[in-house]
Amino acid sequence: DITINKIAAGEVVERPASIVKELVENSIDAGASRITIEIESGGKSLIKIIDNGHGIPSSEVSKCFLRHATSKIDAVEDLFKLNTLGFRGEALASISAVSKLEMTTKYKDESIGTNIYLNGGKVVSKEAVGTNTGTIILIKDIFFNTPARKKFLKSDHSETITVSDTVNKLAIGYPNIKFKYINNGKIMLDTPGDGIQNNAIRCVYGREISSNLINIDYKCNLFSVDGFIGNNNIFRSNRNLQHIYINGRFVKSKIILDAISEAYKSIIPINKHAICFINIYVDPAKLDVNIHPAKLEVKFEKEREIYIELREYLKAKLLKNNL
Ligand code: ADP
Ligand code: MG
Repeated sequence: DITINKIAAGEVVERPASIVKELVENSIDAGASRITIEIESGGKSLIKIIDNGHGIPSSEVSKCFLRHATSKIDAVEDLFKLNTLGFRGEALASISAVSKLEMTTKYKDESIGTNIYLNGGKVVSKEAVGTNTGTIILIKDIFFNTPARKKFLKSDHSETITVSDTVNKLAIGYPNIKFKYINNGKIMLDTPGDGIQNNAIRCVYGREISSNLINIDYKCNLFSVDGFIGNNNIFRSNRNLQHIYINGRFVKSKIILDAISEAYKSIIPINKHAICFINIYVDPAKLDVNIHPAKLEVKFEKEREIYIELREYLKAKLLKNNL
């Protein structure tokens, strides 16, 4: 099945950052309002995720680690129709197969929780435990049983940077969730989870950036958009300052970036890279989705029209703001 293979090519467990992304997305799908992410040695020795989501019923816990026979979607395009971020049912199976994994979880409607321990995908122990509603997952020693893949991991520092980048994108994409991120015992990020995207941006990138952004908000037949843009003359080398979320998912989209930089260029000729944190909502049926190992690329059906409409809106907005 081409669809499944296309998705499987998404390499769930390439490196610590991809594991963190999958686990945090599970926490989001579970309706968590607080998510704590803790890593040690770039995530190589430890990744710990704590959430206050609905948890997993005790009778379902073992099943989570089995590769689902059927995916939740029939076509890659359907990905953007789902209400959940998870769709392949293979993250926990893949992650547990290459690590030592411990999960403690309690379902909201049950009084007792479950603790399960897997080593290289094999269940070592499973017992009932008292715990709060929600889920705690500990992943230790990734790739301990696949030395060839372990060799491909980069330095602790470099893996940490990628994990941080992943967490930052999620924290800004979900400002209604309180994210706490701890690296080697040090708190790196602690967002308010108040639903205000600019507050999450401030926590991640600082006041200098967050206080110089222009709020955008626009609707037309083809799409609607909200979020923030800014002029990146100071931080122009920082590519991380470009976040595009389509229907809630972080994506790469050259056309959107071009519309923003063109709008800026028409007003400030020297501008290099615009800053943007924007959320675009479109009819999922009008998207062409391509999944690469570490990123999601989308193409719009009416690419040219969307580009022009967005660029013209932004130009007018920038002029109005006297920029
Ligand atoms: P998918 O997210 O594609 O369904 P995963 O392997 O990521 O596949 O997760 C398998 C299942 O385990 C999920 O569908 C969900 O039911 C359950 N699960 C995983 N993590 C959590 C969590 N943090 N809270 C509640 N349920 C979870
Ligand atoms: Mg998942």
